[in-house]
Amino acid sequence: MDVDHVRIFDTTLRDGEQAPGCTMTLDEKLEVARQLSRMKVDIIEAGFPAASPGDWAAVNTIAREVGAPDGPTIAALARANKDDIDKAWSAIQPAANRRIHTFMSTSDIHLEHQFRKSRGEALELIGEMVTYACSLCDDVEFSPMDATRSDPDFLFQALKIAVECGATTLNIPDTVGYSTPQEYGELIAAIRANVPGADGVIISTHCHDDLGVAVANSLAGVYGGARQIECTINGIGERAGNASLEEVVMALHTREAFYGLKTQIETRELARSSRTVSSFIGVPVPPNKAIVGANAFAHESGIHQDGVLKNRMTYEIMSAETVGLDGNALILGKHSGRHAFRNHVEALGYTLDDEDFQHVFLRFKDLCDRKKKVDDRDIEALIAGETQHAPHIYTLEHVQYSSGTNMTPSATVRLIGPDGDARTDSAHGTGPVDAIYKAINRLINRPNELIEFSINAITEGLDAVAEVTVRIREQGISSNGGSDPTTINLTGKRAAQQIFSGYSVNTDTIVAAAEAYMGALNKMLAVRQERMKAEAVAYAAGYAEDPGALPVDLFDGGSAG
Ligand SMILES: [Zn+2]
Repeated sequence: MDVDHVRIFDTTLRDGEQAPGCTMTLDEKLEVARQLSRMKVDIIEAGFPAASPGDWAAVNTIAREVGAPDGPTIAALARANKDDIDKAWSAIQPAANRRIHTFMSTSDIHLEHQFRKSRGEALELIGEMVTYACSLCDDVEFSPMDATRSDPDFLFQALKIAVECGATTLNIPDTVGYSTPQEYGELIAAIRANVPGADGVIISTHCHDDLGVAVANSLAGVYGGARQIECTINGIGERAGNASLEEVVMALHTREAFYGLKTQIETRELARSSRTVSSFIGVPVPPNKAIVGANAFAHESGIHQDGVLKNRMTYEIMSAETVGLDGNALILGKHSGRHAFRNHVEALGYTLDDEDFQHVFLRFKDLCDRKKKVDDRDIEALIAGETQHAPHIYTLEHVQYSSGTNMTPSATVRLIGPDGDARTDSAHGTGPVDAIYKAINRLINRPNELIEFSINAITEGLDAVAEVTVRIREQGISSNGGSDPTTINLTGKRAAQQIFSGYSVNTDTIVAAAEAYMGALNKMLAVRQERMKAEAVAYAAGYAEDPGALPVDLFDGGSAG
């Protein structure tokens, strides 16, 4: 691989998914991994297998389904201990190209207050665990966590040991987003100058956005000699997030003459990746977000419009098409046939199985009856709504509501339950949505807290399609019915803290609100079922006290039967 190639290491499914409220089901993680592969990222960090049986299963599935010989390298994260490394290695087994990513802090703050280890003990552990990981895998990445707040000389020592023990990538985390572009660029250059063997390995950036400079720091890092950037779609991640993949990629792409560096990313897939992640985690992309925001290529002021109409280059440094945002809105209407519609869906880059396609086509037709002009954004919203993969444990069969001035809002809903029986209930509320949610809750009877409700119009105009996103938090988990609320899986998520999002689109905003709520509830029930299944396996195997101690080969729920 040439020296001017910058590897894109996507950690949306690990660091990204660790962000509060960004929980994804296994199916959704797989869909994101497939999209990342379509976009030609170099490495997918699929997760942190030691965190929970569910995390192990997700990494293992992605390794099997997306880890093809010509596909991305599949990486798994592990703390610097044997058990974590074993779980990471077993999870990525099915992939053709595999990487173990292990880390240990090197800042005195972390060593003293979190790990209660001396510098000497930390160096010893780094040597031991990098050696162990390299005995299993020929592609090992080492990260000195909190590197930017570490004593540089001690940091160089730790990296020297990692290289001597076989690490092939040195990732330099600005774990708390503390660094400045100048400092970070100089640190990368200093590492190359002071760490023996650094010229024989890849140096990587990993920047957080606490001060809003994660992308700038990452670019300063490659300017300083790094040849891998760790980043996430839409910049999601712990706290204020990670460096955003679409921004670092388009900065290198648009300013290639300046950086003299290239990535292998298929930039036309950027917009789709952003929408896919945004709809799965239920976090809309801000309209002013660089590259993928709704306004990124919109010109409002007269002066700009005048310039763009004369020559786009007057006010655009890249074209919408380059990132997969086709400017032209192709009109499909109620007279469009199934064939034309399927062609168009495929032209948009989607492959739907027959069942999903049938649903989307029917909703499209229904939409054409309600809306004058249906454009690509509407169609993609319908597809996103359909491919939410929220399992249909309960199906919303019917909803009706009435509200208005001088009357009590009320609603009736009919659900089809997991055993196929129809259940109907009615309720009053402060508004139609509240009444509907009350009726649904009475039928499903799983306590939850609505923590976010947002409505967004997909397109302009009175007949615009409404996109509703809701996020709920599970409540009152009983210790025998599911894991004890104090149980923390290793990614720090308390079961009770998990947040589930639901998403739907409809010209009828209230119906979209009902469908989105059902999506979130079904996801909550599905993850709860996954958790209980995993715990039942742990219980059956005598690990009731500490499911995390379950031997790796029993993790694959299937084989444990
Ligand atoms: Zn991070």
